[in-house]
Amino acid sequence: MKAAVFRGPNQMALEEVSKPLINEYEVLVKVNVSAVCGTDVRIFEGKKTKGVRTPSIIGHETVGTIVEVGEKVEGFLLNDRVGVMPVISCKKCHYCLNGMENVCANRTAIGYEFDGGFAEYIRIPRTAVESGNLVKIPDHVTFEQAVITEPLACCLNGQKKANVKMNDTVVVIGGGPIGLMHVQLAKIAGAKQVILSEPIDHRRAKALEAGADLTVNPMTESLQEIVMNVTQQIGADVVIMAIGVPSLVNSSANLLKKGGTLNLFAGFTKGEMTEIDPNLIHYNEINVNGTSALTRADYHASLSLIEAGLINTEILSSRGYTLESIEEAIANVRNGEGMKSIITV
Ligand SMILES: [Zn+2]
Ligand SMILES: [Zn+2]
Repeated sequence: MKAAVFRGPNQMALEEVSKPLINEYEVLVKVNVSAVCGTDVRIFEGKKTKGVRTPSIIGHETVGTIVEVGEKVEGFLLNDRVGVMPVISCKKCHYCLNGMENVCANRTAIGYEFDGGFAEYIRIPRTAVESGNLVKIPDHVTFEQAVITEPLACCLNGQKKANVKMNDTVVVIGGGPIGLMHVQLAKIAGAKQVILSEPIDHRRAKALEAGADLTVNPMTESLQEIVMNVTQQIGADVVIMAIGVPSLVNSSANLLKKGGTLNLFAGFTKGEMTEIDPNLIHYNEINVNGTSALTRADYHASLSLIEAGLINTEILSSRGYTLESIEEAIANVRNGEGMKSIITV
């Protein structure tokens, strides 16, 4: 089969590799559509290394069609259209037992420890099959829509951590696909106004289409002044960082009202540090938290929102890529030229 093999930082090439073999407890999925995540870009650049093998096949946002089912597998049939939930949790560590399976101490993931979706076929290991990591896609949901389920589920997790509530003012830093998912989810959660900060023009335009009430170009305008003006000098209830730029952490915290929440949603480059004024946290009693991956429940909730037609997936996607043009697909996520690159296999 054809696969985009990752061989180290900035080295990925389409290669002919052997089609994965499955045992009686496993499932083989023909990949129909995979999407490029910001994390894939960081892996490609060598900025994220945890769980990443070389050579390996990355890609953890994948949907496809079942083409082989092991004899002992229950509940799946040939030709079932499925989404692949990448995070495989152990179900027995401290975190799994306490409702935090997304940060399982023994977690493995498809696209990391197991080969991922930038290939024609993907083997779903037994632990994943038995843990419910394959989810059937409703008939009227297209593969291009369904591939948004995984990143949207991570954003749902983030919205919960950020505690977005009815009547809130929410600021989203970064207008990439993840930022636009946060805009949509915050509106669904009842946010009164959502403000999005993003230097790239076409992304600000898309954010307005996605439901943002106001967009700010932080290169030419003062986000701080604008947020204070539209909140009667009180500040935002929630700020979500949808880009991993350490130098923006302090200024993001400064946008909050007392008691507000800053969620560090995007991942940062390993080893990069930031400074934050501790008195912002102390006197203003703000909450600073993070978001990592998704739970199985988040995945189901996310697919359900897409199925109900509540998410504009079109606006988040740049289509037309194939495995042959994967480097371009990754580059265009990195440089912000497109939105989420959708690879049709
Ligand atoms: Zn991802
Ligand atoms: Zn665990």
